Amino acid sequence: MEERNYIQGLFHGIKTLGIGLKTSIKVFFEHHETEQYPENRKTLTFSETNRFCLEMPHNENNEHKCIACGLCQMACPNDSITVTSEMVTTEDGKKKKQLVRYEYNIGQCMFCNLCVTACPQNAIRFNQDFENAVFDKSKLIMQLNRPGSKCVEKPKPAVAPKPAAPAAKPAAQVESENRNAASEVRGAASEIRGAASEKRDAVSETSETKKED
Ligand code: SF4
Ligand code: SF4
Repeated sequence: MEERNYIQGLFHGIKTLGIGLKTSIKVFFEHHETEQYPENRKTLTFSETNRFCLEMPHNENNEHKCIACGLCQMACPNDSITVTSEMVTTEDGKKKKQLVRYEYNIGQCMFCNLCVTACPQNAIRFNQDFENAVFDKSKLIMQLNRPGSKCVEKPKPAVAPKPAAPAAKPAAQVESENRNAASEVRGAASEIRGAASEKRDAVSETSETKKED
């Protein structure tokens, strides 16, 4: 009886070992979902909608689009943004707000995207930079505007050229036109005098008729 139990146990062990090996071989050849991070750091890709870190894009001339309006700071529910600005006088004598420092505290950010939505200039966005772990907490506060950067200038509207002045008339033509105009004025005055004379005659006739009566 003991010998029979031993042989049954042996076969059961071999069977379960086979099942385990079969599962291992099957999983070995399957597609793996696990990312081999950090070995695959360079080939890692993320969804476009991921929000890892706020950034302020600058162009090749070290210019950004921020006008320091502060709307993003007001929209932030966690006080993660601090906009420091100053008033400057432009070349044409106008007063204008200028960004001095744009501070972003990723340690307080909850990645709600409200700041990006509130910005009227599309000056900020979230990037795919996810390696933001630091040992020093103060390094979680970042300055997003680069040193020496400034707001990109809007192109000034082109001024429409003034219409050209009409060409001057020749002196002889001007003299002739003046003579004609004077002649027309004299004719009109003569007509008025004739009409006045006729009216006087008519009045005189009427008064004589009344006397005869
Ligand atoms: S994503 Fe939300 S919490 Fe983070 S800075 Fe923007 S508004 Fe504030
Ligand atoms: S990032 Fe946008 S909303 Fe924030 S201060 Fe600059 S222009 Fe205004």
